[in-house]
Amino acid sequence: MNVRKLSENWKRIEQRVGEAASRARRDPKSVTIVAVTKTASVEIVQALVDLGVRDLGENRVQEFARRAALLKEWLDQRSASAATTAVRPRWHMIGHLQRNKVKALLPWVDVIQTVDSLRLAEEIDAQAGKIGRVIPILLEVNASGESNKTGVAVAAAIHLAEQIRTLRQLDLRGLMAMGPLSDDRERVRQAFGRVRELFDEIVGERVAGPQFRELSMGMSADFEIGIELGATCVRIGSALFEGMELPAEPAVTES
Ligand SMILES: *Cc1c(COP(=O)(O)O)cnc(C)c1O
Repeated sequence: MNVRKLSENWKRIEQRVGEAASRARRDPKSVTIVAVTKTASVEIVQALVDLGVRDLGENRVQEFARRAALLKEWLDQRSASAATTAVRPRWHMIGHLQRNKVKALLPWVDVIQTVDSLRLAEEIDAQAGKIGRVIPILLEVNASGESNKTGVAVAAAIHLAEQIRTLRQLDLRGLMAMGPLSDDRERVRQAFGRVRELFDEIVGERVAGPQFRELSMGMSADFEIGIELGATCVRIGSALFEGMELPAEPAVTES
């Protein structure tokens, strides 16, 4: 594994995030970078943690649990052998979540960014209750309006947020959205702009409480537009591994 390349890529992304924040007259520290590791090896995940990466994102429950468990073991061993306690990263679920996978995910996840239905929210609430946790979540919004995309429709999001508010084991922290798969920056800007308006409306009408502050918007190709429109979280995968060999993503999703 090429740690130096990984380190260069990470620094470059931090720099670009900082520059985008400055252009938008925002504090660079107001934007969290979630490193999306997907097919990267556990060694790469460890190297990222050593580089100071504090937020990790995964999209498949099985891989999520396996990596989070391995990383915890690695950090526990370190803490045992060194005087300092290692800083534990936060794990973000960023992939579509099926209800029958919630139970396996909950012991490992810090934030679920992809809640897009009441049924899913209720299942998380029920399972979280059993283990006595309150789970920070984001509502995933279908920003582009494309029917093949996951996420709740913009027009239905406020109602869903109101319903989620009644679930005691869920802590609604904000919104998450994916931009349209398009090189047309104006279309991306419009889609993110709609999500920003929705965010402002939820805050303005006090649909959610004061902890509703997060806007997860932007990936490798469009994070600068996300930051321009107020993203507090960007999810970066491919840009982090540029120039490095990684296995391709499995074509079939787990069932
Ligand atoms: C894979 C993925 C990302 C990262 O995408 P890149 O284009 O590789 O940066 C971000 N968000 C979600 C939901 C993803 O599935």
